[in-house]
This record gives sequence, structure tokens and C-alpha cells, in this order.
Amino acid sequence: MIAQWAQYICYSNIQEMKFNTKTIHGGQENIDPGYNSVMPPIYQTSTYSQESPGKNKGFEYSRSGNPTRSALERSMASLENGKFGISFGSGLAAIDAILKLFKPGDEILSTNDLYGGSYRLFTRIFENLGIKFRFVGMQDAARIEEHINENTRLIWVETPTNPMMNIIDIEAVARIAKKHSLLLGVDNTFATPYLQRPLELGADIIMHSATKYLGGHSDVVMGGLVVNDRELAERLYFIQKASGAIPGPQDCFLVLRGIKTLHLRMQRHCENGEAIARFLKKNPKIAKVYWPGFDDHPNHEIAKKQMSGFGGMISFTTKENTLESATKIVEKLKVFTLAESLGGVESLAGHPASMTHASIPKEEREKIGVVDSLIRLSVGVEDAEDLIADLEQAIG
Ligand SMILES: *Cc1c(COP(=O)(O)O)cnc(C)c1O
Repeated sequence: MIAQWAQYICYSNIQEMKFNTKTIHGGQENIDPGYNSVMPPIYQTSTYSQESPGKNKGFEYSRSGNPTRSALERSMASLENGKFGISFGSGLAAIDAILKLFKPGDEILSTNDLYGGSYRLFTRIFENLGIKFRFVGMQDAARIEEHINENTRLIWVETPTNPMMNIIDIEAVARIAKKHSLLLGVDNTFATPYLQRPLELGADIIMHSATKYLGGHSDVVMGGLVVNDRELAERLYFIQKASGAIPGPQDCFLVLRGIKTLHLRMQRHCENGEAIARFLKKNPKIAKVYWPGFDDHPNHEIAKKQMSGFGGMISFTTKENTLESATKIVEKLKVFTLAESLGGVESLAGHPASMTHASIPKEEREKIGVVDSLIRLSVGVEDAEDLIADLEQAIG
């Protein structure tokens, strides 16, 4: 078994490269021993011929392994400075695989402000299977311990949180997780490894919706996990193979291609994000702007410590604070597209209460700030002037 895992391991020379070099080369050596192609071939095959029973070149059936997928898994691992990457057909399939590590009676502590689909998976699927979830605010890491008991197994953190842009101190939570022998999982979709690398801060599992910034072009749905511990990696590979929620080779190729410009895109997402956050903050019709780069963001200091930039995700509310005022703005936008999702090169606007977070009950939503007038922006890589002009005409 170990011989097969060997092909997934990030070679140590990759670990020594700097981030921008890794986006291009991380885990990509010897991707095509047949013809030395520079780009990873799309191995669009379900099966592989064997010389004699059990004798093969490391791949036997594409649910358990595919060379294009392995190239992507090594790339994702190298970006996070981790050892093992494991990819899935979607971000939620990746979280689903993590949850399959646990048994009925086990408890999971999760941030209370999180992606609506994760909340739905936790409460509508895994709660029925006997796993218990506690949703707690983790902005004050010291208070997490109150919720830990002998059944707790995992702490699940999203930071920045979706859509409220709260920041959670990964290092502080990791210390608590270690003290109680719990796993710490971090959904790193919003930050990407360009801005934040949770394994280096003590997390055990990184999760990505590669649909978002890693893919970066809104043309693919995919998920991934990165871990350092070999035994944990083997358990997750086993779940990937046994449950079968794998991505196809064509999609792996697209995400690999997206990753090659991750650093360039993120740099521009950060610049445009800052310009738009500052524009919104000055606008008299806007009430609150949620963006971790502001000095007065409650956890700005932690954001500065654990992130190398503040990203292009911004949420805001209107002074009118009504559903109608938000609806009017998103309907009038022309450069921003009204759509779910985020992290693509194009700018998107979303209305969390009716779109991404509709699966969270209204009272729960409003407790964490997802009011009817909240609009979430995924700022793309267009010219900031055009984006600001678009917001200006829509806000009126
Ligand atoms: C989109 C998203 C997910 C789910 O990923 P899919 O690829 O849509 O399944 C999970 N977490 C966050 C933060 C997301 O934005």
C-alpha cells in the first residue's frame, strides 16, 4: 500500500520553493514519463492495463487513483506546505469525507458563522447519523474550551467566515485542539494558501472548495483536503476510494491550470478588494462594511498576523436596512454579476439571506448578522475604477 501512496507525496525540493514558484511547479515533476509533456496530460481513462494480475504502474482503476488527479493533489499539498493532497468532486464532498472519520456519539465544534452548505450537511445529514454539532462563536478563542467534552473530536473553523468576514485565531484554536487531543480542520477556501496556510499554524486538515479561488474561473466544481499526518491521510484516501466522490481528470486539469495563476489573481483580488472596501465605507447609503483589512475590524490584528493580505471578499449592509434596498442594488449592477459562488476572475454579488445562506433559519442567520440587507461581493480582477463606478450607479 505504501508504495502506491509514495506517488502522492510532495517531494522535499518542492517544499523549499517559494510560493509563486510552487503554483507553477509544485508537485509537477515527471508528470508525463511517456512523452515529457510540459502540461499534465488529461488521463481520461477509467482503467489501466496490467502486465500480470496486480502488476501495474501504480494505477489500476480511476476511482482509486488517476495520474491527472495525483498531479493536482500534489500541487494542492505543496501550496499548503503539506504532505498529502486528496481531491473530491466538490468542496462539500471533501467535508463529507472528513465527517466520515467519526462515529455516532462523536461531537464536532464548529464556527457559528459558516458556509450555508456546510451547515446543511452538518445538520441535515450527519446529525441524523448520530454526530452532534455545536455551533459557537470562536472570535474569542479562549471561550471554545467551555464547549469541549469527552465526546468532542474535531474543531471546525472557517476564517475569514462566510459571509461576515470574522477572523478566527487559528494558532490559538490549534493550541486548544492539541491540549484536548482534538483534530482541527480549517476551511481555507476564502483565504487560499496564498494568504493563509493553516497547517503551519497547527491545523490538522485543510479543506478547499477548489470551485472558488483555486480553480479561479468559475468553470469547475471541486474540493480538496491537505494533511501532514500519514495515518490521517491514509484514512482519508481510504474514504475517497471507498465512498468514491472523486473529481474527473478534465476537471483536475482545469484546477491545475487555474492554480498556475493563483498568486497573480490573488494579488489583484486583494488590491481591488481594498479599493472597493474603502469606497463602500465612505458611501453615505451604506451602513456597515465587513472586510478584515480595516483597522477597526474586531480581529484586524489577528488577520494581520495570520494572513499576508485581506482578500477580495467583502460584505455590506444598507442604511435603509431592508430587503428591498439590497434587491435594488443587486438588480442594478452591470459589471458585477448577481450569482452564487465566489473566487472567479469576474466580480460577483450575492444576497446571502436568499441565496447562499437560505438554508439557515432566519433567527439563526440574523443572530450572526446575516440580515436581509446584507450583500456579499466577490471582487474580481477587472479594473477597480469600473467596479467602483458600477457600485456607485447601483447604490444611487
Ligand atoms: C463554496 C464553499 C464550500 C462548498 O464547496 P462546493 O465546491 O460548492 O461544494 C465550502 N466552504 C466555503 C467557504 C465555500 O465558499
